[in-house]
Formats: sequence, C-alpha cells, structure tokens
Amino acid sequence: MPRVELSVVAPMYNESANVDRFVDRIIPVLDRLGLSYEVICVNDGSRDDTLARLLAQRRRHPSLKILSLARNFGKEVALTAGIDYASGQAVVPIDADLQDPPEVIAELVAAWRSGYDVVYATRRSRQGESWLKRFTASAFYRVLDRLTEIPIPRNTGDFRLMDRRVVDALRNLPERTRFMKGLFAWVGFRQTAILYDRAPRHAGRTTWNYWRLWNFALDGITSFSTVPLRVWTYVGLAVSLFAFLFAAFLVVRTLLYGSDVPGYASLMVVILFLGGIQLITLGVIGEYIGRIYTEVKGRPLYLVREAFGFDEREAAAQRPAAVGPAPVGTTGR
Ligand code: UDP
Ligand code: MG
Repeated sequence: MPRVELSVVAPMYNESANVDRFVDRIIPVLDRLGLSYEVICVNDGSRDDTLARLLAQRRRHPSLKILSLARNFGKEVALTAGIDYASGQAVVPIDADLQDPPEVIAELVAAWRSGYDVVYATRRSRQGESWLKRFTASAFYRVLDRLTEIPIPRNTGDFRLMDRRVVDALRNLPERTRFMKGLFAWVGFRQTAILYDRAPRHAGRTTWNYWRLWNFALDGITSFSTVPLRVWTYVGLAVSLFAFLFAAFLVVRTLLYGSDVPGYASLMVVILFLGGIQLITLGVIGEYIGRIYTEVKGRPLYLVREAFGFDEREAAAQRPAAVGPAPVGTTGR
C-alpha cells in the first residue's frame, strides 16, 4: 500500500446532515497543505443515509476512504478502527460534526514538522455547551487527575495529530476498553499543545447524554486507576478503628453506670452504614470484574462490514448492494 503522509480519521454516527459540509470544508484545507493525504470516514453503524452520502462524496474525492462497521460500536471503537486502517505518517482524528475546525490541522502539521510526535489541540473555549456539561467535564478531569498517575491533558478531546511511531505504539495496546484520551497520554512521546476554539455542533444532536458520559467517565477511571478498588482497605480500617474506640467507650460506660437496654438507634445506624459501605465496595469490585470479563473474552474490538478505498478490499466495495439508503448494521439482525 503506498503510504500517504497524512491520514485524517473521522468517526460518524448519524451524521447525514454534516457529511457534505464536513467533506467540503476539510478537502480544501488538506489540499492547501501540499502533502499526500487520505480521509478515512468510519461509518459507525449509522441508521440514516450517512454511508450513502459518503459514497457519493467518494465519487468526487478519491482520497476519501470509507470504513463501514457492522453496527454501532461507539465513538472510541470507531476511532480505533479508523486508526488501524490509516496508513499515513501522521494521523489526525477529528469529529465529523465540525466541532473541531479542520483549519486547525495546518497548525498541527506545522508543529509536527518541527519535531513533535503528538500535537494535541486544547479547547480554549467550549461554545454551545451548557454550564452543567462544562461543570461535569471539569469535575471529571479533576477526579481523573487525582486518581491516575499519568497526566491526562484537560479540555482536550481526541482531536490531535499523532506521528506513525505513536500510532504503532497505540495499536500495540491490546485492551478492549478504549479510553482514547488516557491511552494517548499513556504512550508519552514528545507532546505539545496548541489552542483552538471549539465550535458548536454544525447540525444534528450529540449522542452523549449524561448516562453515557457517566459510563465514559467510569471507563476512564477504571482503565487508568485502581484507587477506587484499593481505597476500601483504608475506609475499612477507619471504620474498624472507630468501632474499636466505640467498643472501648461502651465497656467503660457499662463498668461505670451499668448496662442499659436502649441502643436501638445507634445499632441501626451502624448496621445501615456498614451495609451501605459493603454494597458500594461490592459495586466497585463489580465494575472492575466486569471489565476483566470483557477483556478475557477477547472478542474483536469491531467488525468491518464494508471498506471502500483500501486496495484489495476495493473490489468488494463496487458491489451495487453497498450503495443506497438501506440502513446498515444496528437493526437487531
Ligand atoms: N460518534 C460515533 N459513534 C457514536 C457516537 C458518536 O462515531 O456512537 C461520532 C460522531 O459522529 C462525531 C463524534 O463521534 O463525529 C463526536 O460525537 P458527538 O458530537 O456526538 O460528541 P461530542 O462532540 O458531544 O463529544
Ligand atoms: Mg460533537
């Protein structure tokens, strides 16, 4: 496969309303860079006509390559798939909803040329996001920062440039829980940041509701920290110490004033408190065991249904059945 210099990877889930704008905006930017490039669009099991629109765009721009996954695997996995298929000397993941302005790629490439392996784009502002989203995001970054040893840059999404060396290192990480921000930081290399203004979504709605964000946060914390698992030793120690002191106090009191029957309230409090702590602990252990279980099963991270533009797979791509508005994947087949 002839290697290109730059691969841009865009995961897309129901981005029908954004596909054309995205392609029309990013292609001229890349053309101006004066290097060879490919744009890999990963159709993450969209239910709308994202794939059909991509195929139409591909007829106009042959540098557009399309990877269509068998169902919706989620953004992190879609991104991993795209990065696996990328052949560029540098890889840039970018959101397809134009929240990451393609023009910034020029700056990323400039910093890469000056010798950095990873150039991440940090948000100077978050337009079009509610205060609650901003607050929870910053709380999450603070907690993550406390719990993990690797510094994960704040206000930084997946939008960045990675050198081939970094990409190869990433691809060698076998884990199935792909918390990309953390993995990107974990691999290290020479990193630098540039600032940009994050635009509001061009069209459509974000698929990240708070439940999904919460689970994303859990993934991030459990993948990069065992503190939640170990902290219970200390909680247990503290509670035992307290119980011991309380027992000593009771003994002394009984010796001085004799025994009294009342004590129902304090007993209930202690029972409920300990019961609660034990359930929380079990839950935390469960979070980790659940993830161990998914890792151990060793299922492939994603399944590709069709690929367009990747050499020998090209032939399969020409099948007319591939074109058309039929929904791909997600329906429970
Ligand atoms: N995305 C995806 N699979 C999903 C959800 C999202 O590939 O299951 C893509 C989506 O099409 C977009 C990017 O991931 O290109 C970021 O998604 P979104 O804009 O919903 O997230 P946000 O910008 O709110 O973090
Ligand atoms: Mg977005």
